[in-house]
This record gives sequence, C-alpha cells and structure tokens, in this order.
Amino acid sequence: MGTYFIPVSMPDITDEEKEEVLKVLETPFLSLGPKHKGFEALFSKYLGISHSVSVSSGTAGLHLAIKALGLGRGDAIITTPFSFIASSNVLLYEDIYPIFVDVERETLNMDPGQIERFIEKNTRVKEGKLIDSGTGSKIKAILPVHIFGHPANMEEIMRLAEKYNLFVIEDACEALGAEVKLIKGTISGGPQITWYKVGTFGKIGVFAFYPNKQITTGEGGMVVTSDDNIASLIRSMRNQGRGGNGAWLVHERLGYNYRMDELSAALGIAQMRRLPEILMKRSEIAKRYDLLLSPIDEIEIPTQKDYAKISWFVYVVRLNPEIPRDDMIKFLKEMGIETRPYFPPIHLQPYYISLFGFKKGGFPVTESESKRTLALPFYNNLKEKDQVYIVEKLKEGVSRWISERQI
Ligand SMILES: *Cc1c(COP(=O)(O)O)cnc(C)c1O
Repeated sequence: MGTYFIPVSMPDITDEEKEEVLKVLETPFLSLGPKHKGFEALFSKYLGISHSVSVSSGTAGLHLAIKALGLGRGDAIITTPFSFIASSNVLLYEDIYPIFVDVERETLNMDPGQIERFIEKNTRVKEGKLIDSGTGSKIKAILPVHIFGHPANMEEIMRLAEKYNLFVIEDACEALGAEVKLIKGTISGGPQITWYKVGTFGKIGVFAFYPNKQITTGEGGMVVTSDDNIASLIRSMRNQGRGGNGAWLVHERLGYNYRMDELSAALGIAQMRRLPEILMKRSEIAKRYDLLLSPIDEIEIPTQKDYAKISWFVYVVRLNPEIPRDDMIKFLKEMGIETRPYFPPIHLQPYYISLFGFKKGGFPVTESESKRTLALPFYNNLKEKDQVYIVEKLKEGVSRWISERQI
C-alpha cells in the first residue's frame, strides 16, 4: 500500500493556537500565571459550575479527587473494569480497594443494576457504614467513567449514591461536552426536560486533555466541583500543599507538583473557544461512519441511549465474535489503517491479577465485549475519502474471515 497511512488519532492545532502558545514564552509566567486562571474560568463557565482547577493530567486530577474526599487505606470504591487503566490505578495509589462491577452491553458503561446487586448481596451496614463483606473495607464512593464519550446512566447512579450515602467521582476524561437528559416534574405540573453536562453530577468531576481527547493541552487535566472546600484543597495539593494565603514556603499538607503550565493553559483556552465547532465536526464524522457501516451485518456500530448526548472521543465498533479482532488489526495495519483494541479489561491486567487474584469470568460482559471492540481512526479532520477507504478495507477483512469459515 506504499505510504498510505491513516493514524488512529491526530490533534487539531490551528496557527492561531500556536501563536497563543508562543506568546506565553515572552511573558514572565510559565507556570501558575494568567493563562491557567483564564482556562479555569472559561471551563467553569462552559460547564456552569463554580470551580475548575487545572492540573497536569487527568490521572493527577483523579488522584487529587480521591485525596480531597479523604479516601485511603481501608476504603473501597465501586468502579468499572472497562476503562483506561488510570481510573483504577488512582485507587491503588492510595491503597483503596477497587470493587469492579460489570458494564451494560449496549453502552459499555458501568451498569447501575450491577451496583445495586453488588451492594445487596455483598455488603453489610456497621455503625452506619457500608462494609464490603469480602474485604471488610468501607465503601465510600462510586467512580463511573463516561466511556468513549457516552454518558453513564447518571440518574440511576446518583439515586444509588444517595440511597447508600456514597460520594460520586465522575471520570469524564473522555467526555467533555457530553450531556444527560433528566425529566423532572415541575411545580406547574408538566414534565420539564433538561440536559446536564457530565462532570457536574458528582461531588467531583475530572477531565483530561491528552492529545487524543476532544481538546488537548499536550498533557493536562481539569478537576471540577461546586464545593468550595474541596476546590481549595485541590488547589493546595496540586501545588505542593501550599496554603491559600500565598506564602510560598508554607506547606499545610502533603502536596504534589500537579500544576498545569502556562503554555498548556494557553492552548487550552484557544481549544476551548473552538469546542462547539470541534464537537460538531466529530459528530459529523461519527454519523458518516454510522451510515457507511450500518449495511455490514458483522459490524455493530455504537449506540446512543435516549437519555444521552455523546461527545465523540473515539469511534469504537464491535466485530462479530467469529472475526479474529487482533488479526483484523494486523490486516488493517497492512492496508495503512491504524486501529486500537480499546479497552482490555482492567481486572485482567497482570498487575491487578497479581495484586487481587482476579480471574477470568468475573465480569463476563466486559470480557466478551472487550474482545470484539475496534477503535477506528477518528479525529477532527478525518477526510470522507479516508472513511470510505477504511470501511472498504473493513469489508474486505470481514469477507475474508467470514468466507474462510464457510469453506
Ligand atoms: C484519558 C483518560 C484518563 C486520564 O488520562 P491522562 O493521560 O492522565 O490525562 C483517565 N481516565 C480515562 C477513562 C481516560 O480515557
């Protein structure tokens, strides 16, 4: 195929955005200056939330979120095994036990029914605390991940969190701009439909700006909350535990260097201004894939629940289980198309097996679906002719294995 190559993702940086970054280099502020403040303000305004704290990565943001809630050894958090590793790793940083529950087949998001089943079957209440019968740890929080930009069922998750008095930390690292529909009765009588952005449901929400996300700052993340105390704790901990009074060498608590630099923040501001346009482009590309792929029986395209507005992070299809997914990846690579097997189950990662002894079969939906997922090339400026080519090669691949089987 010569030099033809379509990458799985590609950042989209305009000349204006490059200018903005270069301008920072002419100021005395390369860290904690006006740009990070501006980025935070813009972010808060977009989400309609009172506090946004910029950090050096989404992972750093998730780590600070669990620290700010005072969670640590002896505690457990309910989360999903179908995710990027960071959403669970941050629990291990603090010796928190990860309680995995399986996902919904359709959306690949944490299944609220499974949360409830787990709590009913495997916990007891002791002195008002919810205890995991298996490990004896105190269950303190639910950590849903809005996977691939499709919102988790936040209405149900929030209901369960209230019922069992648990914090909710939203990993919205893949879902900037995704929305959830809630229908509420109003005093005047009729039902009122309102859309809410993900990241604003839980006590804390976390976003990420790695180069393949909806917007990028190179490396970077944002923690959002409407709680004043949590916001100031996170501000302090991202900056070596310094206090709010501005004294540079007074450290009030254990902190980290999780600051976002000014160059990243300048890029973040410029990208944020383009966010509506970026989300629109991505949704058009997703629609075009839907159209091109829906005639192929052996390929399942992503679904969007009624309650959900997806913010497209990646476009992940699922192959007929009889098609060897990893061979398909190789075949497409030879055709100049880069794809990815998003995501292998977290509980079956070697480190998690060695630490907790998780076994195959523990989370059947996660395990069977993750074997068939295939993330196709997906980025703002993906051309229509490339999409047509990708789908053509996918078809070729499908007929290869399906006909091999029939011979
Ligand atoms: C990208 C991502 C993160 C954070 O990633 P960083 O590279 O640390 O910014 C966390 N959780 C999920 C689900 C992600 O996709």
